[in-house]
Amino acid sequence: MTHDSVANLGAVRDSIAAAAKAAARPATSVNLVAVSKVFPIEAILPVLQAGQRIFGENRVQEASRKWPQLRETYPDIELHLIGPLQSNKAEDAVRLFDVIETIDRPKIARAIAAAIKKTGQKPRLFVQVNTGEEPQKAGVAPIEADEFLKSCRDEYGLKIAGLMCIPPADEEPSLHFALLEKIARRNNISRLSMGMSADYETAIAFGANYVRVGSAIFGPRPRISHG
Ligand SMILES: *Cc1c(COP(=O)(O)O)cnc(C)c1O
Repeated sequence: MTHDSVANLGAVRDSIAAAAKAAARPATSVNLVAVSKVFPIEAILPVLQAGQRIFGENRVQEASRKWPQLRETYPDIELHLIGPLQSNKAEDAVRLFDVIETIDRPKIARAIAAAIKKTGQKPRLFVQVNTGEEPQKAGVAPIEADEFLKSCRDEYGLKIAGLMCIPPADEEPSLHFALLEKIARRNNISRLSMGMSADYETAIAFGANYVRVGSAIFGPRPRISHG
């Protein structure tokens, strides 16, 4: 299994390079975020040893159990929070993550601003947009995105570096990628986090700078219950 993940990583990197080339984009404009949620340290190590440095986790607590010790060996790791954030975890998140991709409401923006002030840490921040307007999914509604971005800047003093989306599972993702790109462009935001195992090549065609790939590298996720 560990051997598979290293081979998978190579294959994903090759596909990213090919998709960037097909889109006439420099390969360096697309960053691979290896999504290691649920997988233990033993599964992550071979991928680190193979040179991967950007990783995504969706839970603050799980990440805090795994990454501080990995960072001792690999100080150049870049860790992304890609799951919903609760305001009472904002300080932990700001201490642990280099990039927080899931700012999506005033309460979180306020908590992150306070945590940055308190800790002096400055993670890069992305706003999550619920492009499919799915009630069960996190993210600001597309129609509220401009105003939310403005309030992040003007009310909370947050610099927003990018936008992130997770398209509905049963819809053509390209419509959602195009919508996210449009919202970013009209708000002068240059970074897009979009595309997962099933659709990262499409996302690259639509301008993704960060693709978040889990199962195509690590294999199917074991089902575990979080307590
Ligand atoms: C789990 C997850 C991914 C990775 O999904 P795969 O389909 O396994 O590549 C990407 N983004 C987010 C927000 C996730 O929660």
